[in-house]
Amino acid sequence: MPPRLSTAWYRRPLAWVLVSGVLLVLGAYYWLDPAQYRIFPICLLHHYTGLQCPGCGGQRAVHQLLHGDLLAAWHQNALLVLALPVVLWLGLRQAALRWAGWQWPVVFNRPGWWWIFAVLTVGYGLVRNLPQTGG
Ligand SMILES: [Zn+2]
Repeated sequence: MPPRLSTAWYRRPLAWVLVSGVLLVLGAYYWLDPAQYRIFPICLLHHYTGLQCPGCGGQRAVHQLLHGDLLAAWHQNALLVLALPVVLWLGLRQAALRWAGWQWPVVFNRPGWWWIFAVLTVGYGLVRNLPQTGG
């Protein structure tokens, strides 16, 4: 079935605000390295305990991804690198549904997916805080 365009998305002010906000944030993460600039939010768990939460390194990983360095991003936050295609898919799908009325296939509509995501997130948070051996 061809895509059905309801009201053109670009005629909606909220769409422009969201697109502008996303581009602004991506620009900040592209031009400013979160490892060097203190304008980015910090992780309170890491700040107060020294432990790494599942999201720690995510901002540095985004910076590396925007510069095309997948390996450096992987070393900063592997979970983010693995989850990003899924998150992008869900975001694009939601945007297409909301603003263009496109019916994309539903892939992650079962609760089992969310359980898998929760277990992966908690497991990643635990594993990355295990004591390092060797070396
Ligand atoms: Zn953290």
